[in-house]
Amino acid sequence: MLVKKLKLPILYLVLPCYNEEEILPLTKKTLEEEMSNLINNEKISNLSKVMFVNDGSKDKTWSLIKKYHEENSLFAGISLSRNKGHQNALLAGLMVAKEKSDIVISMDADLQDDISVISKMIDAYKEGNEIVYGVRESRQKDTWFKRNSAELFYKLMKMMGVEVVYNHADCRLMSKKALDGLEQFQEVNLFLRGIVPLIGYQSSVVYYPRNQRVAGESKYPFKKMLNFALEGITSFSVKPLRLIIMLGLIITIISFLFLVTCLISKFTNHFVSDLKFILLSIWFIGGLLMLCIGLVGEYIGKIYNEVKKRPRYIIKEELL
Ligand code: UDP
Ligand code: MG
Repeated sequence: MLVKKLKLPILYLVLPCYNEEEILPLTKKTLEEEMSNLINNEKISNLSKVMFVNDGSKDKTWSLIKKYHEENSLFAGISLSRNKGHQNALLAGLMVAKEKSDIVISMDADLQDDISVISKMIDAYKEGNEIVYGVRESRQKDTWFKRNSAELFYKLMKMMGVEVVYNHADCRLMSKKALDGLEQFQEVNLFLRGIVPLIGYQSSVVYYPRNQRVAGESKYPFKKMLNFALEGITSFSVKPLRLIIMLGLIITIISFLFLVTCLISKFTNHFVSDLKFILLSIWFIGGLLMLCIGLVGEYIGKIYNEVKKRPRYIIKEELL
């Protein structure tokens, strides 16, 4: 019996939190129950913990986390020196949790990812998978806009040749081995759901329902979502650069053909000059050039960031 107990995996749940004071009490209560069930049913070791990552919140999030930690050793927390964004906060949590646990499951602090997924993921881990991707069964409960923009995003990623698991966000289980692999990816432009499939190892997928946010509001407004999608594509694919070359080639061919027809018209005494047409083409080419330069700039910006090798996160305080 003792031997069996020793073999139970230590699970760390990692939840990034940014201004989540409204939902945190509910999240804490739900996870407290779920974790004690899992521990009592001998699915996980009693050394398992729930680790909140405070991503530079401006509200009472960190003081709540501190309070939970004092009340119950099940709760741990780390606090970043400032707001670094969801992906960096998640990475910080994963790297700290890795040192203390056998498996880590990441989920959002609003528990929109149904917690039934935890037990399913542990089962999949026990079947020998090092990475288990949580996939949303349906997005019916998301807003129309969120659902459709997310669908477009996954389609675009696929078109650009980026390997991502469809409808999988950042709810996933990773073993210590897989996290050691993740640690070796040193990129600053973090897009974890693109990096994780590159680690390799045996992996599987579990499905779960996606719930509505019950309190607080989304910390991913349209602007952040758009930035995230752009980050995902430009960090993983050079296809946009090739598209520019194709676009340039097509425009060159078309304008060359126009020139030839103009010349033929001129030599056959037809009226050619059209100021409007010339002005329009100048504007068109001008806009296109700006677009292309902007896109090239996007990559230069990436190189700039990578070259500087700035730290991806700095931990201010740890409650472990
Ligand atoms: N989050 C974070 N830092 C940020 C923005 C968001 O740690 O700068 C966390 C947030 O607290 C939540 C998760 O990332 O736990 C997902 O955010 P949210 O639920 O607002 O996104 P949505 O579900 O609307 O896409
Ligand atoms: Mg959410």
